[in-house]
Amino acid sequence: MSSSSSSSLPLQTLKIGIVGFGTFGQFLAKTMIKQGHTTRATSRTDYSQLCHQLDVPFFRDVIPFLEADNDVILICTSILSLSEVLNSMPLRRLKRHTLFVDVLSVKEHPRNVLLQVLPENMDVLCTHPMFGPESGKNGWKDLPLVYEKVRVRNETRCSSFLHIFESEGCRMVEMSCEEHDKVAARSQFLSHSIGRILAEMGIESTSMNTKSFETLVKLKESATNDSFDLFSGLFIHNRFAQQELMNLEQSFEKVKQRLLKKMSEQQSLSSV
Ligand code: NAP
Repeated sequence: MSSSSSSSLPLQTLKIGIVGFGTFGQFLAKTMIKQGHTTRATSRTDYSQLCHQLDVPFFRDVIPFLEADNDVILICTSILSLSEVLNSMPLRRLKRHTLFVDVLSVKEHPRNVLLQVLPENMDVLCTHPMFGPESGKNGWKDLPLVYEKVRVRNETRCSSFLHIFESEGCRMVEMSCEEHDKVAARSQFLSHSIGRILAEMGIESTSMNTKSFETLVKLKESATNDSFDLFSGLFIHNRFAQQELMNLEQSFEKVKQRLLKKMSEQQSLSSV
């Protein structure tokens, strides 16, 4: 045990059970293993072979997974499948008080679902690492980890989990789930939407890129690297996203109208 930099609480090495071993679950597991935590996984797809290579026990059956001695159950499923996945788990099989953590890119939805399905004696920490396998491939230093301690009684276990990110140099941002969703709708959802629009237009790098255009090409690539499930989850399960999509549409229309007005002014000037 050692001490956390941000608190005087002792830290513990954790046994972390990962639910949803897709791109992001695998990405997080690698750092957790590097730090000496024990991980095990369950997922819809059979990842036995990959898990064997990573030395992570893989449970095809969720019951022995729940009965394994987990300090933390880390939910890494898609936003769209969260309710289905949690409702299909026989949570009464949990043998001990456990900390449930989610990493979904929206926050009110998992907070509400977790509070609804979990027995009252389970702790809940909602997090959103604001980075992914691409932006975090060279380390997590200065990348934000947003979190809300929704229901935490075992502070040592929760601090030990947060320390995984803290010790990699993440910027730790404590914020309510509601505030997260408000800000994310106007930032992350907007950048994903514009990236998807650029992909729809089929923009490609040219031999005469400006720096700004290069930024757009990168935005398109980063938006389309994430699954469409992730993007649609940002829209469907963030109650602030629909308004931002309307703002985007209205702003596009306003800019277009200004251009058309200017063009017609110029044309009437040149016709006199
Ligand atoms: P994703 O497409 O959002 O989620 C893929 C995961 O969801 C896989 O583990 C997949 O399981 C599982 N899944 C999808 N549909 C399912 C269903 N019907 N039933 C059971 N499981 C289902 O891609 P991701 O990038 O791995 O993201 C995982 C979570 O992390 C998401 O909630 C996302 O918002 C969050 N997150 C992602 C990033 C990122 O950069 N990628 C960053 C921060 C947070 P199988 O693999 O077994 O099919």
